Amino acid sequence: MDDDPVLILGGTAEALALAAALVGAGRAVTSSLAGRVRDPAMPVGAVRVGGFSTSRTDGVTGLADYLVEHRFGVVVDATHPFAATISAHAAAAAARAGVPLVRLVRPGWRDHPDADRWTWVDSTAAAALAGAASRRPFLTTGRQSLEAFLRRAGWADKEVTVRVVDPPEIPLPARWRLIRSRGPYGYDDERELMDAAGTDLLVTKDSGGSHTAAKLAAARDLGVPVLVIARPPSPTGVPAYATTAEVLAALA
Ligand code: NAP
Repeated sequence: MDDDPVLILGGTAEALALAAALVGAGRAVTSSLAGRVRDPAMPVGAVRVGGFSTSRTDGVTGLADYLVEHRFGVVVDATHPFAATISAHAAAAAARAGVPLVRLVRPGWRDHPDADRWTWVDSTAAAALAGAASRRPFLTTGRQSLEAFLRRAGWADKEVTVRVVDPPEIPLPARWRLIRSRGPYGYDDERELMDAAGTDLLVTKDSGGSHTAAKLAAARDLGVPVLVIARPPSPTGVPAYATTAEVLAALA
């Protein structure tokens, strides 16, 4: 598969790095973005934007057809560990089209030195329940998660600090403070933010990686409890690699 065009399902820093490495190695690469983020960092190489479903086809069929039509030799699912739908679609579509699929996924925080001090839950709804007693929580779980917190009684009255990249699609309660920014974040800034807000609970997804990990050390040092939403299960039978170098080796 070392000459075949590569489709990268992207939307992550890892996908950007992989596209750059493959293009640098002379490979034909197309990156696919969902098109949700307003001003995405653009990968090098060819780029397509938007889901694969149409009014006539579901996402799996659309992706399988796309793979065959453009004669991709391999697909790399480098989407975010919480983008479970597209990863499941990739597994089904690649199998249907007979195209090899590998996954590039950053290691999670299960092995973080503080991981056994955190409370782990399986969903945003479970995080809303587990964090019910907090008064000034800091939510770093993404704009798509906010509705689940607001569905739970009491959350609208908390002094919530919310940090998101793009603006939420729903109105937020007056007591909630919205911060719009994109990582990476450093330890000092994270500590200052939580200290100034009087944060009494940090809520995060197990996004993994280093870009957003400083908040975990800052929370520990401030004595702020941490609530972590665990990753959804990965599709079975898809070889997974943690680094660009490992994917390059697998593709060669
Ligand atoms: P998702 O729930 O797994 O996917 C929802 C739908 O969005 C898919 O069924 C597919 O539509 C479309 N889609 C998703 N990723 C795509 C891609 N790379 N190329 C083309 N279509 C894609 O995804 P999500 O959690 O909303 O995330 C959307 C994108 O944001 C992903 O690419 C992901 O890497 C990135 N991202 C997600 C998170 C997160 O926390 N979830 C964080 C950072 C970045 P069709 O069914 O029409 O094909």
